[in-house]
Amino acid sequence: MAVVETGANVAARTGAQFLEGLRNDADREIWIGGECVTNPMDHELLRPGAEAVARVYDTQHEHAEICLAPNPDDGRLVNRTHLVPRTKDDLEKRRASMEIIAAATGGMMGRVPDYLNVTFACFAGASEVWARRGNERGAENIVNYQKFMRDNDLSTTHAIMNPVADRSKPETEQLGGEIALHKVGETSEGIVVRGARMLATLAPFSDEISIYPGSDLGPGDEKFALAFAIPMSTPGLRFICRDSFSKPKSTFDYPLSARFDEMDAVVIFDDVLVPHDRVFLDGDIVGYSEVITDSGWRGHIMHQAFTRAYVKLMFAFGLGHAMANMTGVGRFDHIQEKLGQIWNMTELTRSALVAAEADSYLDSHGVWYPHDRPLMALRGEMPKWLPKTHELLQLVGGGSFMATPSEADFNSPIRGDIEKYFQAAGGDAERRVRVFRLAWDFIGSDLGGRSELYERFYLSDSWRMTQLAYRTADTTFAESLVEQFLHD
Ligand SMILES: Cc1cc2nc3c(=O)[nH]c(=O)nc-3n(C[C@H](O)[C@H](O)[C@H](O)COP(=O)(O)OP(=O)(O)OC[C@H]3O[C@@H](n4cnc5c(N)ncnc54)[C@H](O)[C@@H]3O)c2cc1C
Repeated sequence: MAVVETGANVAARTGAQFLEGLRNDADREIWIGGECVTNPMDHELLRPGAEAVARVYDTQHEHAEICLAPNPDDGRLVNRTHLVPRTKDDLEKRRASMEIIAAATGGMMGRVPDYLNVTFACFAGASEVWARRGNERGAENIVNYQKFMRDNDLSTTHAIMNPVADRSKPETEQLGGEIALHKVGETSEGIVVRGARMLATLAPFSDEISIYPGSDLGPGDEKFALAFAIPMSTPGLRFICRDSFSKPKSTFDYPLSARFDEMDAVVIFDDVLVPHDRVFLDGDIVGYSEVITDSGWRGHIMHQAFTRAYVKLMFAFGLGHAMANMTGVGRFDHIQEKLGQIWNMTELTRSALVAAEADSYLDSHGVWYPHDRPLMALRGEMPKWLPKTHELLQLVGGGSFMATPSEADFNSPIRGDIEKYFQAAGGDAERRVRVFRLAWDFIGSDLGGRSELYERFYLSDSWRMTQLAYRTADTTFAESLVEQFLHD
């Protein structure tokens, strides 16, 4: 393990520096269970998430040779995901770094900072798309903001969807247009925005929130066409969290829930002032779509998302393998077939990432682009594959998930019974219970249920993404195969 290097030549933060940042920014308004929290470290159920993000920050230093690289402006070391990729090697090294970060949480935290680091590096690299139709100031702002994110190694959340009230109407017409985030005014200092957005995952553990497009808009929707970023403690910003799924009392009982609840929140903008230098887009309904479709965001974010998915699939495979060996059910053909299914999904994901890098190219913005063809194919499948692992693991584990006494039981007078009756072919009672409790936390606890929902929806749904794969597919070869038999 490398020695943590900090100092003037390192911009990448340590976990302690990240937690110090949360402590020093105590004006945030995070509502959870009827209580307003300003520093997550002060709340029993939020503290583990903050500590998990801190561990992610430490991980980049422990693997500095892979995770850190000099930034092109002053040479200070930053996380690789903050860099705009300029070569194929940059993409490959970025994936290696993201894999290490994902492994630190078993892929259970989808929104650790590298998600938005990659997004904003892509946006800054394609700033000319933001500059279209006279938005040079917004483009300059996003380039400066990305450097600010990078040089301060920010933890950021984002909320790109407007809340759902009535899907039979466009987002902008939900309850008379009052619900969706929109601009209500402008001062000499900035624009004033009102409304709500969802879902700001990681919000309690973030330094800043960014807003950028998540859907298309039409003529007349100009006041909804917004992109910006502001500190979490900006006056008027209010975050309303779901129930915590954190179970911090015992890592024995809930090895994942005790650590990795990244939290999700609806964010309310109560006439929030966004300074002019933090506004990236204001009123351009065409740009609102183009900054997603023309910036290369799809390929870059899938490169990040499916690297984490690969790690999480591998974790699922490891859990199934461990359970099968523990109780000896691995000898059954159908159990091997189920484990084989998880392995296939894992390996196909890795292969798609390698293929995207193998066919990567320098795009028109001068950014090295992971070819999105194999990634688009995965985008429709992954929201089905990761939930499918939950079903497969349930079938591998069977009733043993429920033969899982707690840490308190192990420390009680019935320990002797537990040691005798819970031992298994692959390990003593404690190891068996630990394996099955871990697997249950992956698929069946509150956190496991949220994890399944997350995978279904965090990057839009499987149906629309499969439809998009069809609409963007290169049909040339397919058409030629058919055409050759239609003319004689
Ligand atoms: C755990 C979790 C964490 C998330 N984290 C973030 C985050 O950090 N940042 C962020 O911005 N967003 C986040 N999201 C939100 C995510 O962007 C949305 O959930 C997703 O885009 C789907 O939108 P929705 O939830 O409004 O569901 P809806 O769109 O209301 O979907 C409900 C159902 O209706 C279907 N449906 C809806 N509209 C259509 C349509 N037009 N055509 C066909 N079918 C349709 C959907 O497929 C789905 O089956 C998160 C979501 C989850 C579940």
